[in-house]
Amino acid sequence: MIEVVNPADGSRVGVVPHMDAAQVKAAIDRTCDAFPAWSRRLAKERGDLLRRWFELVRDDKQAFAEIMVQENGKCLAEALGEIDYGLGFIEWYAEEAKRVYGDTIPSHAPHATVMVMKTPVGPTAAITPWNFPFMMITRKVATALAAGCTMIIKPSEETPLTAYKLLEYARKAGIPEGVFEMVTGNPPEIGALFTGDERIRKISFTGSTAVGRLLAQASGATLTKMTLELGGNAPFIVFDDATLEQAAAGLVAAKLRNSGQVCISPNRIYVHDGIYDRFVQEVAERVARIPVDQGMRPDFVVGPLINQAGLQKVDQLVQDSRRDGATVVLGGRPHAKGGLFYEPTVLTGLNDDMRIARTEIFGPVFPFYRFSTEDEVVRRANQTEYGLVAYAYTRDVGRAFRLARDIEAGMVILNSGSVGTASVPFGGVKQSGYGREGSHHGIEEYVDVRYVLAAGQDV
Ligand code: NAD
Repeated sequence: MIEVVNPADGSRVGVVPHMDAAQVKAAIDRTCDAFPAWSRRLAKERGDLLRRWFELVRDDKQAFAEIMVQENGKCLAEALGEIDYGLGFIEWYAEEAKRVYGDTIPSHAPHATVMVMKTPVGPTAAITPWNFPFMMITRKVATALAAGCTMIIKPSEETPLTAYKLLEYARKAGIPEGVFEMVTGNPPEIGALFTGDERIRKISFTGSTAVGRLLAQASGATLTKMTLELGGNAPFIVFDDATLEQAAAGLVAAKLRNSGQVCISPNRIYVHDGIYDRFVQEVAERVARIPVDQGMRPDFVVGPLINQAGLQKVDQLVQDSRRDGATVVLGGRPHAKGGLFYEPTVLTGLNDDMRIARTEIFGPVFPFYRFSTEDEVVRRANQTEYGLVAYAYTRDVGRAFRLARDIEAGMVILNSGSVGTASVPFGGVKQSGYGREGSHHGIEEYVDVRYVLAAGQDV
């Protein structure tokens, strides 16, 4: 068995099975065997089952949220927010199942019809991280099932309880065995079983760039289609014409979500020279008011980091920056509460050569950089191997559109700190991966384009 622990106090929350290769293979077999019947169900029937799943989970949100607080450490308010976000994918794709439209093309041949059909790619697999234990599962499974694919998921072994509960509710809703399967055990072994099986036609992975690369390499042997949602190094740019209170509120909300352990967390905060000091002060005052605590209380709190390695990484980045000349305006060390809590930290005086500028921080740290011109900040924002999201605050509409054009990212968010919802395409460029989740673009990842020529209609 695998033990699941509460990062807030180290207590044991539950156990899940550590499956061996034979058990994983059996689950892959079920996923593959279920595909023909599932893909032939009416789109409406698939949508109705997803809808039923959505309703059952929606009516029991609190139970899901409490498990998420315990295994992930995020606070109850955030867990409930993630559930609404994640449920949005089931609801959206329950409807979208009926709208996987093809084309007809004017025929190039006499007495013929040319059609383009969208057919489900086949049995699929997914591997998900611990930072969004609910939403990461629903946005993959709902899309795959709507398209007519079956899916086997390996959730993170840090947060598998939410995942298994989602599976339980899917079964209650009538989603059959095989159509949605779940395995837990040794991640590299399970990854190799997924990538090495030619019957699995697509793998959707969310996690680190390092593991994404390994899976993409392994998938080369079987030519398995991939969606890769990987790491980020998001710039957050505040121009001197921005509304500072709005920018500060957007920044603090985006940064402290999940204690900063989010792929789209602002990771480099570029502030125009003219407003730098004022803006840093505004942000520091807001951050100082937010409590650090375990997540079962009803208000918003900054929770613990996921594990010791995560805490050490964050602290090392802060101490290295300090050694290299950064000023610690707020926080700067593990929290007096002990365990995995870290003080929300504000750092100034950083430059692009420091390690913190190139590293995904994954903690409640606000690193501030100065800039003076638009050209300069765009160049610096793009100076990263990642390209997931970029944020900017400006009231200049011309500049806003130039940024949307010039910044290298899969998502550009202007005058807001909020990114995700089911109706938009989420995903990155460069080393942040490829493929999109959400919106009608998301379902395209689970279908093949089939050209059909029906000639000979004159006889
Ligand atoms: P991780 O890559 O360590 O783990 C992700 C998943 O992969 C887990 O389920 C893990 O068990 C599994 N895994 C680990 N090694 C494996 C292997 N060799 N073969 C197969 N599976 C393996 O990442 P993490 O620490 O869980 O999550 C944090 C990372 O995820 C960050 O880099 C973050 O930016 C990224 N992330 C990206 C997005 C996005 O949508 N782009 C969203 C959330 C998190």
